[in-house]
Amino acid sequence: MATEPSAKVIDGKAVAKQIREEISAEVSKLKDAIGVVPGLAVILVGDRKDSATYVRNKKIACESVGITSFEVHLPEDASEQEVLKYISDFNDDPSVHGILVQLPLPSHMNEQTILNAVTIEKDVDGFHPLNIGRLAMRGRDPLFVPCTPKGCIELLHRYGVEIKGKRAVVIGRSNIVGMPAALLLQREDATVSIVHSRTKNPEEITRQADIIISAVGQPNMVRGSWIKPGAVIIDVGINPVEDASSPRGYRLVGDICYEEACKVAAAVTPVPGGVGPMTIAMLLSNTLSSAKRAHNFQ
Ligand code: NAP
Repeated sequence: MATEPSAKVIDGKAVAKQIREEISAEVSKLKDAIGVVPGLAVILVGDRKDSATYVRNKKIACESVGITSFEVHLPEDASEQEVLKYISDFNDDPSVHGILVQLPLPSHMNEQTILNAVTIEKDVDGFHPLNIGRLAMRGRDPLFVPCTPKGCIELLHRYGVEIKGKRAVVIGRSNIVGMPAALLLQREDATVSIVHSRTKNPEEITRQADIIISAVGQPNMVRGSWIKPGAVIIDVGINPVEDASSPRGYRLVGDICYEEACKVAAAVTPVPGGVGPMTIAMLLSNTLSSAKRAHNFQ
């Protein structure tokens, strides 16, 4: 007899909405108390449609909570010096509390040079090596934590999932998701394993996990047999797969085979509607914290 789905759905869309309402209330409080409005500057280089969509969504999200957004859109053939000049100006501008350079940058630019130029006090993406270094060190605190992994942990917190003492497996080790997610889980006292493309027995390792965070970019890679009964699963993957029945000709799926996971896991995030909406909510949260820190506002 087939097992019926029993997993709880972790509703990232609803949690993100609630967080945005909380941020909106705090932004008003900050403005009323000391007349400060948080500001986020976004630098976009080139004409990638996906990047333009992300930037537009960030702008709309800022407006919805009362954060001012500043946008710079440079052509694909802009020079690195131009980008660095904008970063320098935003670093010095007291009305800007967060600076975000939309990735990927055109291939003639050095991503490391550009990301390093953002002052760590405004590094709301949390990608500056000093912020990542502090995240990795015991007894140190980063000023900002990268938004997507922070959103994953926030979902676990808001759903009352205990992390301390649990076995966690992070699948993927990218600088922007997998690696900081593993560091965050470790800071919360989980015992963490990282599975990557060279891992010999990913299924066996993943099956030991009480908590799985997957950030790979391979549709439906994690099957039901990879999952320990009762595990909690956070699926970061966003993968387009062909779907003739969809008007767009494709639909988005995660790294986790959702239907199978629902029969084994205790809780799982859907794609879309899981981690995705949390990323922008965490960006707004980081921008608000930055403004509060800059003005010593509790
Ligand atoms: P990435 O930079 O391409 O990293 C992918 C990671 O997965 C790498 O560490 C790679 O290992 C590992 N990997 C690849 N194939 C694997 C396999 N067969 N088995 C085990 N590990 C494997 O990707 P990313 O930027 O971290 O993004 C990952 C996914 O998350 C993508 O689908 C992306 O669209 C999505 N994403 C979503 C959000 C959101 O807001 N929800 C934000 C960012 C990214 P190696 O290190 O060995 O190469």
